[in-house]
Order: sequence, then structure tokens, then C-alpha cells
Amino acid sequence: EMPHFNHTPSPYRGPSASDLFKRRKHYLPTSVGPYYTNPLNLVEGKMQYLYDENGRRYLDAFGGIATVSCGHCHPDVVEATVNQMRLLQHTIVLYLNHAVIDFAEALAAKFPGDLKAVFFTNSGTEANELALMIARLYTSCHDIISIRNGYHGNATSTMGATAQNIHKFNVVQSGVHHALNPDPYRGVFGSDGVKYANDVQDIIDYGTCGRVAGFIAESIQGVGGVIELAPGYLPEVHSIIKKAGGLFIADEVQTGFGRTGSHFWGFEAHGIVPDIITLAKGIGNGAPIGAVVTTPQIAEVLSRRTYFSTFGGNPVCSAAGHAVLRVIEKEKLEQNAFVVGSYLKECLSSLMDKHEIIGDVRGKGMLLGVELVKDQKLKVPASAEMLHIIEKMKDMGVLVGKGGFHGNVIRITPPLCFTKEDADFLVDVMDYTMLKM
Ligand code: PMP
Repeated sequence: EMPHFNHTPSPYRGPSASDLFKRRKHYLPTSVGPYYTNPLNLVEGKMQYLYDENGRRYLDAFGGIATVSCGHCHPDVVEATVNQMRLLQHTIVLYLNHAVIDFAEALAAKFPGDLKAVFFTNSGTEANELALMIARLYTSCHDIISIRNGYHGNATSTMGATAQNIHKFNVVQSGVHHALNPDPYRGVFGSDGVKYANDVQDIIDYGTCGRVAGFIAESIQGVGGVIELAPGYLPEVHSIIKKAGGLFIADEVQTGFGRTGSHFWGFEAHGIVPDIITLAKGIGNGAPIGAVVTTPQIAEVLSRRTYFSTFGGNPVCSAAGHAVLRVIEKEKLEQNAFVVGSYLKECLSSLMDKHEIIGDVRGKGMLLGVELVKDQKLKVPASAEMLHIIEKMKDMGVLVGKGGFHGNVIRITPPLCFTKEDADFLVDVMDYTMLKM
């Protein structure tokens, strides 16, 4: 039977999706258009739900790409943001402001050891650009190692570190090396993390002068298709990089703020302490803010230089970020990500017996991926089928993301307030669309 949402119409009425689509020629003139053949016009959000111009409700299982951590327009975040907006919208790093200092202090408290120096940026890209620059300055070295299939942003150094040609455009940087992807599903060494780590040592031995500036990785590759790195990989790489004099950079843009459920930060599940951590997305529940966190000793390299960002650490985004930290704690969202995420993953995994198209179900907490294949043995990516499935799921009221190099991975990254009932509905809808293929 077809699953149905209990629709609560929103009072809002606005221009229709087709009207907006016609006027879209002045906006986003790139290949990255709306996901859907029948595009969706979103006008309102409440926690894990979104509403179109007709008041139709959608379950948001993508969360603006793992960004809406607390829920759309979470009242506490809205209140903190609006209050700060009324008080003082803009100031710069040349002056002190309590909103920025309060947030930096609260954020630093979430990190172990000496990781107590915070720089604010406007995005994940800028956080990673800064992290790579700091590593190069600190080590007086140029070589960076990142992992194939990783995504780190869309400016020069970050595109260099990104290792998927669909996201690299013409940016290829010297001194950037892409190591084998420790992907348990498709990688050459299966789940043997240490074997993949040997490739990092090989790169240092055969591709550099023997020293590197650093290594950057996501602990779970998000854009790349929710790939959990093979167990044992990160600790081994951490010690290899340290021996080569480099800094270990954890890109926590998707994996941070409790999203993985088991830990507040993704790296914590691997028993390592990075030298630099980069943050964005979930940090502001949608407010444009990112951050670099490192030790005061490493941060010293910036104090002798004029590093400057006009909007970085603006009071309004800082107030939003600070409210996010309070909400995650107050509403136990990390624990909810664990409980509901584990439940959802189990339900999705049980669909594998029924649907040959599901090749793999993976991820942790509220960072989950469902890889679609022509058949489970040969693992040929089912990319066209995926577009069909996510369109049908949207028509039935569920929004999911797409990802993976072959565009065949359904990404499930909802706001962390997602409930078991939401999970059941998502699974029913996915099941139904796959039955109707
Ligand atoms: N790192 C990771 C892991 C990401 O997923 C992204 C965004 N998808 C970025 C960096 C870049 O962040 P932004 O889009 O905010 O520049």
C-alpha cells in the first residue's frame, strides 16, 4: 500500500514552481540545476519538515546537505540570531564582540587537548583553504596528501585536494597527492585499512622529498557517497604523517556536531587527535559560517601575518552557532542521531534482501548512504535508476540527496531531530518506489 503523509497545510502561498523555473535563467546558470524533473519550490521549514508553495509537506532527509543540524528554523536558533541581528549585525576582527568570543569559547570547550584556537570563516571551503595554508606555513613544506573521492571545497587549494574530476574543473595543483581510497565496498584492499595506509607511505617515499605539509580527509566521505574509511586506516595514516613532519587535518564539515551519533566529532571514533579540524555546515544550522580549530602553537603562524576575513566570525552567525551548541546539548541530539540513525540503518539494510538494486547501506548516525547498483554481485552503478527513485520519493513527500562519483548513492543526512516515525516513513517510501521500478 502506498504510504501517505498526514499533510498539515502551511498558510503560505507564493509563486508556483513552474513560474520560478521560468525565471531561473538569471540564477544558477550552471549544470547544477534543481534535482528534479518537476522542480520543487520550498517556501517554509519547520524542524525536519519543509513546505512547498501549496502547503504540501515534505520530510527533509537531506537537511540542506547535512547542514540543518537542529531543524529548520529551530525556535532557539532563530531567537538568538534575530536578537543579535537587532543588536549588532556586523563588526570585524579588529574589534572585540561578545557574541564571537562567547562562541569561540564554547566551541573550543568541545575539543580535546590543546585544540583551543578557533578562526571563523564563511564556509567549509574557506576553512579548508585556511587549514591547508596553515599546514604549509607551519611546516615550510608544500606537499599535501588527500584521499581519492574526497571533497574539500571549491576554491584553489581545496579543489586541488578534492579528488573527483566532476568537482575539480581545471584546477590541478602541484604538490597535491591523492592516496588510494580506503573504501570497503569498492576499494582494492577491501576493509584492510592498514594496506591502504601503506599507499600514503609510498606517496611520501616516492612522490615527495620525504616530508609533507599535511594530510586532509573526511572521516566519512560525504559528497563522495557516504564512504566510511576502512577500519585502522586513519590511526595508521596519522602516525605516518607525523613521522613525515606533517599536520593531520580532519575535515569535519559533514561529520561534526554529533551527526555521526557515536561522537561529537567524527575523528573521535578513530582514536586520533588531529592537529587541525575544519568545520562548517551543521555549525550554524544554515547560517553561513565555518571554522578552523587548532592548537595555539600552530595558530602562531598566523599571528605574524595579516590574515583577514570581512565576514568571518560575524556576530549574527556566531550567535546562531552558539545557539546550535546549546540546542544539541539540551535536546540530546547527538544521542538521538545515534538511536534513530542506528534504527534507520537497520531498516534500510533489511531492504537489501528485497531489492537487488541496493548494493550497500553504510554510514553512521544521521550520515547514511544507500548505494544503488544494477545487481549486487557486479556492482555496476545504477545512476539513472537513482534519479528516478529520488524523484518518486519527492513526489511521495520525502527529500533525499544524491552523491557518489557515479551519482548512484542516496544520501540521508536529515536534521538530527529526525524521529523513528520519520525513519519508518522514509523506509516505506523507498521500499514502495523500488517495488514500482
Ligand atoms: N568539506 C566537506 C567534507 C564538504 O562536504 C563540503 C561541502 N559539501 C566542503 C568541505 C565545502 O564546504 P562549503 O560548501 O561550505 O564551502
